[in-house]
Amino acid sequence: MKHRRVPGPNDPAPLVPPSHPALTRTARRIFTSELPDPVTGTPDYMISRMRALLALLNSPTPRLRDPRFPAGAYALAAPQCGWDWAVIVLADGDVWLDPTLTHVSSTLSEPTPEQCLSYPGRTFTTRSPASVSLTAYDEAHNLLEFDLGGLHARIALHELAHLQGLTLANPGNPRLWPPPLPSPSSPL
Ligand SMILES: [Zn+2]
Repeated sequence: MKHRRVPGPNDPAPLVPPSHPALTRTARRIFTSELPDPVTGTPDYMISRMRALLALLNSPTPRLRDPRFPAGAYALAAPQCGWDWAVIVLADGDVWLDPTLTHVSSTLSEPTPEQCLSYPGRTFTTRSPASVSLTAYDEAHNLLEFDLGGLHARIALHELAHLQGLTLANPGNPRLWPPPLPSPSSPL
C-alpha cells in the first residue's frame, strides 16, 4: 500500500514552478468560499507553512537559505505555493487575508529592479504606484486598513497581483502595474 505523507504545518510551503496554473488564476477569497479540506485548506495551515518557507528563505544562516534567492524574501502569496487562496504572508509575520485595494496613487515610483520568488534568477524593471491603501483581515478576522508607501506599496502591489493571477512575467492589470509594464532587464 502506498502512503503519501501529508506535510505538517511546520513544513515549509513549496514554491511551484513558473508553469503552475495557480500562478495565472484568480485566488478565491477565504471568507466567502468553502474550504476544500478541513486541514490542508485552512488559513492556519497555509499561513504556518508559508511562514516556515519565509523563515527558511530569510534564514540568518546562509547555508540554510535557498541559493536561488540569495537576497531572501519580503512576502509570499498563497498561489506561489500552488494554493488558490487570497492569503499573503509578510516576512515580518503579518498576514493579509482577502486583501482589497482601496486606493492606488497616480504618482509612480522611479524605474526599480524587482524580483519574484516564482521566477528565480530573473530581474524586472517596474514603476509602481508610489502609495496604496488596502484593507485585509488578520488571522483573528479583524478588518485592518493600511496606507503604504515606497517599498511597502511595491510589495503590497506585487503580492496582490499574485492573487489576481498576475506576475512580473505576466502583468495584466494597469492599476497594479501602470504602463510601462514590467520589462525583463535580464534574459531568462
Ligand atoms: Zn512574486
